[in-house]
Amino acid sequence: MPATTDFFDEGALVGVLTTQPLGRALDYRAPEGGCMPGAFVEVPLGPRKVVGVVWGPGKGDFDIKKVRSVIRVLDVAPMREEMQIFLQRAADYTLTPLPSMLRLATRAPGLGDPPSMRKVYRLGHGAPDRMTEARARVLDALEAQGEAAYTLKELCDESGVSASVVKGLVKQGVVAEEDTPRDLPYRRLDRGFAGKELTADQAACADALRRAVKGGGYGATLLRGVTGSGKTEVYLEAVAETLRQGRQALVLLPEIALSAEFIARVEARFGAKPAEWHSGVTMTERRRAWKMVGEGGAQLVVGARSALFLPFRDLGLIVVDEEHDTSYKQEEGVIYNARDMAVLRASICGAQVVLASATPSLESWTNAEAGKYARLDLAARFGAAVMPEIRTIDMRSETLPSTRWISPTLQRAVEARIAAGEQAMLFLNRRGYAPITLCRACGHQIGCDHCDARMVEHRFLKRLMCHQCGETKPMPDTCPSCGAEDRLAAVGPGVERLGEEAASLFPDARIATLSSDLFASARALKEQIATIAEGGADIIIGTQLVAKGHNFPLLTLVGVIDADLGLQGSDLRAAERTFQLMRQVAGRAGRAEKPGVALLQTFQPEHPVIRAILAGDEEGFWRAEAAGREAAGVPPFGRMAGIILSSTEMQDAFDLGNALARNDAPLRRIGAQVFGPAPAPIARVRGRHRVRLLVKADKGAPLQAALARWISGVRAPKTTRLNVDIDPQSF
Ligand code: ADP
Ligand code: ZN
Repeated sequence: MPATTDFFDEGALVGVLTTQPLGRALDYRAPEGGCMPGAFVEVPLGPRKVVGVVWGPGKGDFDIKKVRSVIRVLDVAPMREEMQIFLQRAADYTLTPLPSMLRLATRAPGLGDPPSMRKVYRLGHGAPDRMTEARARVLDALEAQGEAAYTLKELCDESGVSASVVKGLVKQGVVAEEDTPRDLPYRRLDRGFAGKELTADQAACADALRRAVKGGGYGATLLRGVTGSGKTEVYLEAVAETLRQGRQALVLLPEIALSAEFIARVEARFGAKPAEWHSGVTMTERRRAWKMVGEGGAQLVVGARSALFLPFRDLGLIVVDEEHDTSYKQEEGVIYNARDMAVLRASICGAQVVLASATPSLESWTNAEAGKYARLDLAARFGAAVMPEIRTIDMRSETLPSTRWISPTLQRAVEARIAAGEQAMLFLNRRGYAPITLCRACGHQIGCDHCDARMVEHRFLKRLMCHQCGETKPMPDTCPSCGAEDRLAAVGPGVERLGEEAASLFPDARIATLSSDLFASARALKEQIATIAEGGADIIIGTQLVAKGHNFPLLTLVGVIDADLGLQGSDLRAAERTFQLMRQVAGRAGRAEKPGVALLQTFQPEHPVIRAILAGDEEGFWRAEAAGREAAGVPPFGRMAGIILSSTEMQDAFDLGNALARNDAPLRRIGAQVFGPAPAPIARVRGRHRVRLLVKADKGAPLQAALARWISGVRAPKTTRLNVDIDPQSF
C-alpha cells in the first residue's frame, strides 16, 4: 500500500513492485542517495534487471542478509500516491493482479533510458543585418512562444519559411540554437483564446461545468445532447476552465482514427495542439507524452482508453466522449471499462468527470436518475440544423434480387440527393465483402482454424480474414472440404460488396467506402474523411466507423441497409446497442443548414426498438429498458461477473469450470448465483477454447471479495487461464 514516509534514506528497506507476476512488492535496499516513495527504479530480479516502482516501506519478512539493493533511480517523475491508490483500487475492482495493473501504467517506451538530445530554437539577442518578410515571421513566431522553444520543423511550419532562413538568423545570433533533451514540453494552450459564442442553452451547460471545475474536487456530470447540439463546444469550456486553474485535462475518444478533426478543433480553440495518446502515435511521441504528462509539460491529452493510466501530475478534468461506446471496454488481458475507471480515477484525484453522449448507456442514465451524476441536457441542434426525419423502408414489400441489398425506394432517395448536389451515406455494420463463404457443392462454410468464427472474404485484400483473431489466408480456388472447383460463393453483404452494388446502381456517382481495413494507415483514413467533408464524394459507404463524430456538412441522407442486424442474437444489451447505433447513424444526416432524412431498411418495422427509434422517444425507451433489466435483476440493477476459463484443451477449461461451480460456498454466502460453465460468447479465440461462468448478485453484495475467495479456493491447472470480467458486455 502507498507509503507514509516522504523519503527513504540509503540502505532503508523498500518494497518494490514490478510488472513481473509475483503478486506483491519485494524488499530491496534504497540505493545510494536514497529514493522517494513512488520512484521508478531498476532492480535485480534473479539474473535480470527489471523496472519497478517503490511502492512503500519494505516488509522485512525476507532473509535480511539476502536483500539486494536498488540499482538506480530512473530519471522520471515518481509515481504519485493517488496513482498508486488508483491502481490498487482498479486491481481490486477488476480482480486483476496488481503487477498487471502496473503494466498499464508503465507503458512508456524507453522508460529510464538516458535522454537523447535534439536542437531547439529560441529568440537570441542580436539584430539581423537586414529585415525581410520571412525573417520577420520567424521572429514573430518566436516572440509569441516566449519561453518555449521550437524544433526546426515546428518553427519552419509555424512561420512558413525554409530551414535556410532560420539557419541564416542563427549565424547572426538573432536566433539561438540549443541542445535540449528530446522530450520537450508541448506548446502551451492559450487559456485566453475565446471559444465560440454559445447559445443560451449551451452557455447554461458550460456555466454549470465551469462552476464544477472551479469548485475543485470530485464530481460527475452526464452531458446529454443530440449529435450536433454542441456538446464538444460545451466541454471544451470545461477544459478551458481546468487549464485556467493550472490543472490538466484528459479527453477520451472512442475511435481514435477519427481524432484529427478533434485535434484541429482544439488547435482552433486554444492555439496549440494537445498531446495525443493512442496506438497510432509513434514511440518517440509516446515517450514524450508520458514524460510530459508527468512533469506537467502537457496540459491536455486526447487519447484512447489507455490514456487513463498516464501519470498526470494534477488531473482536474476527464471527459469521456461518446461514453456509451463499446470500444471503451477492454476485453482482453486486464478487462476493464474505461468509463468506469475514469470515474474511479476522478474520484481519487479530486477531478471532475464529464460523460458526453447523444445516447447514454443505461448505466449512466440510471446513475443520473439516481442523482449520483449531475445531468445537463442540450435539447436542440446548433443553428439551423434539425434532427433528421427517420422513416422505415418495409423490406417485406420491396422487390429486389437476393444478391441486392439496396431497395428501389432507397435507390430513388439516393438518386434524388445526388441530383441535388448533396451526399448520401449507406450504412452497413459489416466489414469485408461477404460474411459467409459457402461451397455450393457440399454446403461447407469456411471457418477460422483457431476460432469459433467464420472467415470473412475481403476482396480488396484478396484474402479471407477472421474478425476474431485477425488470421488471414488466401482465398482458395477449391472447397477445402470437398475439393470441388469454382463452387465457392459469397453469401450475404459486406461493405465492399455494397460498394459494388452502389457502383452498378449509380454509375456516375463518386463513391467512397470507409472501413478500417481498407486503409493502409490512420493518416490515409483521415485524408479520405477530409476529402468527403469537402464534398469529394457523392455516396459514402461505411461501417460503424462512420457512425461516430464526423461533420459531413453536405450529407443529407443516411440509408441503413439492415436495421435488424443488431436485434438478432440473445444479447440482453442488443436493444440498447441498436437504439444507440441507429440514432448515432441517423444523426450523421443534416448537420448543417440542410435538413436530413434517415431511412431504415427493416423486415420488422413494428419491433419495439425500431418504433422507439422512429418516435425519437429516448426517455420512453430508457424507462422501458430499465424496467426490463430491473425485473431481471441484471446490471445496472444487479451485479454480474463473468469468469472466463481458456485453454487449448476444451476439457481442461470445462473441468475447472465444473470444479468452481461445485465449490460455490463463498458465493452462496453473499446470496450470489452461478450459471455455467458454458461456452463463452466467443467460444474459441486463437486456438484457445473459452468457457464462461456467470455470477449474478444483488446490487449491494460484496461481489469482488466473494469472487476472490471463491477463485482462490480452486487450483487451476497450468494449462488453463482464468480471467475475471466484471460487468460483462453480454450476458
Ligand atoms: P456535438 O459534440 O454535440 O456533436 P459539436 O460541438 O460538434 O456537437 O457541434 C456541432 C457543430 O456545430 C460543430 O461544427 C460546431 O463547431 C458547431 N457549433 C456548435 N455550437 C456552436 C456555437 N455556439 N457557435 C458556432 N458554432 C457552433
Ligand atoms: Zn480466428
